Amino acid sequence: MTQPNVEEQLKYKREQQSEILAKLKANPRTTVVRVAAPEQCNVGQTVQGVYSKEDVPELPIAGCSLENGCICTYEPVLEDIYP
Ligand SMILES: [Zn+2]
Repeated sequence: MTQPNVEEQLKYKREQQSEILAKLKANPRTTVVRVAAPEQCNVGQTVQGVYSKEDVPELPIAGCSLENGCICTYEPVLEDIYP
């Protein structure tokens, strides 16, 4: 069984995350985006928080060195969930 190499995984992850971010940005109900980082991602911990859509850092975070790649994610913050 061949393992996909790290570079390919990173490329895939980057594409996946930018796709998610593009969808969040396209959603008018999403005004801010939360960057969620797991405890074991030290680099992610430094950037996690809530950002305006224009201001979101790119994921995966450069320098993240988790064994299986950065697993930080974008989470939408919806307004008026219960209007
Ligand atoms: Zn990470």
